[in-house]
Amino acid sequence: MSLEPHGNILINRVLKPEDAIKMTEVAKGLRPLVIDEELVKDVKNIARGVYSPLSGFMVKEDFERVVSEMKLADGTVWPIPFVLDVNEETANEISIGEQIALVEENGNPVAVLNVRDKYIYEDGHVAKQVFGTIEDDHPGVKMIYDMEDYLLGGDIELIDNSKEPFNEYNLDPLETRLLFKEKGWETVVGFQTRNAPHRAHEYIQRIGLEVTDGLFINPVIGKKKTGDFQDGAILKAYTYMVNEIFPRDRSVLSILPLKMRYAGPREAILHAIIRKNFGCTHFIVGRDHAGVADYYGTYEAQEIFDTIEDIGVTILKLEHSFHCKGCETVATSKTCAHDNELRTPPSGTVIRKLLQAGEPVPAEIMRPEISQLLIDLGDIFVK
Ligand SMILES: [Zn+2]
Repeated sequence: MSLEPHGNILINRVLKPEDAIKMTEVAKGLRPLVIDEELVKDVKNIARGVYSPLSGFMVKEDFERVVSEMKLADGTVWPIPFVLDVNEETANEISIGEQIALVEENGNPVAVLNVRDKYIYEDGHVAKQVFGTIEDDHPGVKMIYDMEDYLLGGDIELIDNSKEPFNEYNLDPLETRLLFKEKGWETVVGFQTRNAPHRAHEYIQRIGLEVTDGLFINPVIGKKKTGDFQDGAILKAYTYMVNEIFPRDRSVLSILPLKMRYAGPREAILHAIIRKNFGCTHFIVGRDHAGVADYYGTYEAQEIFDTIEDIGVTILKLEHSFHCKGCETVATSKTCAHDNELRTPPSGTVIRKLLQAGEPVPAEIMRPEISQLLIDLGDIFVK
């Protein structure tokens, strides 16, 4: 018995190979619209059902209700707008009902869009509602301000289903659902990450594994900030974890190409919905999930789930964990009574500094073999 996808429908807008060949020919005669690499990811995610029940870019009705109420027009919970922006000149040329070709910067056709709607929006209102602020220091708000003035809505049909890079780790919801079923997992906990694993991550993954049948490690890959771990390093480190540390039949590693919006609480809901579509029954939300700077309260991303309709995923609301010399293990404020001076929280800055210098991170913070693996890889941070 596996969990239904969000909105009870698993979207599949990927054209079969023979249809994709025909559509490539059709696309040559359509108006081309160049989309950047982040939008290509959204197009592919939509087509593969990662964003089910979205079958395309949002029409005005969906967009406005998502912004103001976190719901699609039909009432399904949905926290983040997925939109295709164009400038006024392009908007004027395109008519509703037209089919246009979405192409990469190199001209490669990715998908066709059946244009169903064309509309304008108020960026300050969107920023305030979705991100809780209108300050353009917030990277998500800046993305909204940088968008063109018009939005196109409509269903897509995917021509190019290529999955590079990391093809072998890029499973669709259909594939993960089948895999979980084959493994006999009735409950699966999803884990979101953008980092190489340290002990505190492992600790919360173990908590997840204690209460469910399987662990789905699903790192977000793609555009990163300077100093972030490179995608390849994260994958190498987690490959070790799923092969050598966790029982092999109890964990699955697959990537999620997705742009971070840093929308904090709203993004936590999106992350949970996406994992539900992959077949997860549980999802881990830590403190300040998907937050940036101090725009959101420590527990806001956990508390928001108490204010929305049940989305059918059990949220494991976990505390930050640390190594405690008194407990002689990783613990949280819920399980350890010792003073702060005995506790060592994992510090991203310290970990980065040591690894960059080719020095292992203290063993109570990161497994020595993970440290070594990362040091051996070299060049593991985004410049
Ligand atoms: Zn302790």
